[in-house]
Amino acid sequence: MSLIQCPECKNQISTSAVSCPHCGYVLKNVTVPKYEQQVVNIRCWGRGEGAVNKGLMPYIQQGWEVVSMEEDYWRGGWLSPVYKVVMKRKK
Ligand SMILES: [Zn+2]
Repeated sequence: MSLIQCPECKNQISTSAVSCPHCGYVLKNVTVPKYEQQVVNIRCWGRGEGAVNKGLMPYIQQGWEVVSMEEDYWRGGWLSPVYKVVMKRKK
């Protein structure tokens, strides 16, 4: 269970509540997107979009979306770059 702010009275209420217990505001139209997030290090064999996509494919097949990615120059080499990738997925 998580909490959201009532759009009417700004009190904290449960996401599972149908209406606000404080002011009676009906919440059924308020949808809270639920995402889980993870950070993974992906090693690619070679440079270029193809190599990166190959590394990302197993995650994308599991429904993950890439939020951001940056190269980790300390872990990777020129021919086997490592990317730190932030991913999100609908729960
Ligand atoms: Zn309220």
